[in-house]
Amino acid sequence: MESKGVDFYVDAAKSSAQWHQKYIANMKKCRFDTIAVHGIYSMQEALDFNQGSIIEPIYMSSSQAYRDSDEMEAALGYKIPTWCYSRIANPSMYYFEGVMALLEGYGADIETSCCATSSGMSAIQSAVDPFLCVDEKHPNQKMNFVATCQLYGGTFQQFGVRKDQEKNIEWRKVVNSNNIDEWASKIDENTRFIYGEMPSNPSQAFFDLKKVVELAHSHGIPVIIDSTVATPALLRPLALGADIVVQSTTKTITSSGLGISGAVISRKNIVSRYGSDEMKADFAGYIKLLPNRDNGPNISPMNAMMTLNDMRTLRSKVDMFSRSTMKVAKFLAQHKHVAQVDYLGLESHPLHQLASEYLWLADSEHDDLYGKPVNRYGHLMSFHIKGDAQATRNVFDGFQRIWRATDLGRIKSVATIPAISTHSQQGEAGRKLAGIPSNLIRLCVGGEHPDDVIADLDQALSVLDGKKIFVTSPEYSAGGASSASLRNK
Ligand SMILES: *Cc1c(COP(=O)(O)O)cnc(C)c1O
Repeated sequence: MESKGVDFYVDAAKSSAQWHQKYIANMKKCRFDTIAVHGIYSMQEALDFNQGSIIEPIYMSSSQAYRDSDEMEAALGYKIPTWCYSRIANPSMYYFEGVMALLEGYGADIETSCCATSSGMSAIQSAVDPFLCVDEKHPNQKMNFVATCQLYGGTFQQFGVRKDQEKNIEWRKVVNSNNIDEWASKIDENTRFIYGEMPSNPSQAFFDLKKVVELAHSHGIPVIIDSTVATPALLRPLALGADIVVQSTTKTITSSGLGISGAVISRKNIVSRYGSDEMKADFAGYIKLLPNRDNGPNISPMNAMMTLNDMRTLRSKVDMFSRSTMKVAKFLAQHKHVAQVDYLGLESHPLHQLASEYLWLADSEHDDLYGKPVNRYGHLMSFHIKGDAQATRNVFDGFQRIWRATDLGRIKSVATIPAISTHSQQGEAGRKLAGIPSNLIRLCVGGEHPDDVIADLDQALSVLDGKKIFVTSPEYSAGGASSASLRNK
């Protein structure tokens, strides 16, 4: 057989890449919902390669086969787009990454790329680790990073234990993230990146992102934002100058709760005085092809599709969730057994004004219903019970519709007590820093009618009036009978 040569495949890949780029450029002109629904999967691709399937297929294959050794050489040398092996890339992952990159860059004149990961935690690790390598010129310098301490509990552990304790990489904590001078005071020549979560889970911390970006970039340091709680439907940090966004797409983005997934999204040409030019040019593309290839925190094709599928309706769901949460927050704020409600949407929240400058429902100005920009604040909120840790547990144990689970972002309302769950590992001192008292219940309002969520909260709070509540019927679960034996009754 006559050899086609590596160049044949390189040229063919170039022309198909050009076609694809044009397709994506056209898609970028569409509105948020259209991008979320169609993403980068085209009719052309469906008809040429996927038997006309209108929905992106799930490629459960471990690897891709090549026509000949030339194509294999071109592919494995990263000379042509390829997915060679599903630890590195795979068409189903690629569809998800394409939509995610477009949505995080929506409305801004920037180019973005995405690397999907197996979880939010692996997205965070993938995003920060490339900045925490030994500097060949100064191998003995102790490096540091500056990050808010109002963080998701898992991130608090990753930074505090895995980085600071185990690897001697200093985490310089910003306690009041709304004080720009505090950020400035923590930065020095060994600072590798700036990290923040906004709004934070669960305490609703929020900071002036544009100011923090300006400060970091004046030192040549990148800004990494965990934007899980906002989602691109409400906030797009890359459009505001941040360099990298991490998402636990497990949460609101995959509101069905059908799997764990994460994503790192970056703008082209990030700011960083540390790292190679290749890394800075396309950070997400770089980690996908190199560090993540070697470390293996990839997403599975099945989970990529579960996430992609839920994302199609992200904007309208976030709108509905936010409106319901506002109603629930207002109910709780006037309840006699509630000491305080933390929700950025409430005017009483000290960061309400600042959050209102940042959190806008995408395309509300193009929505027939609104016709103007409207603020939305997401579906995560917390409330403090008037009472001690036990009273808080009693209310929590009284929920009959709201699920008790360490989860959020669901289509079903979910609540937890962070002090005994998500934030138990960081201890009393760590919780104090993060502002998480033992009488705080975190609530994420789902897609139920808000009046039914309010009714459940109301009856649960009535335990503080002495009312007895039986959540599981004694006849049904007496003696811890298994669900199988219940069905057989
Ligand atoms: C859940 C969560 C994470 C971690 O994501 P996983 O998908 O559970 O690994 C990170 N950040 C925030 C804000 C979260 O809520």
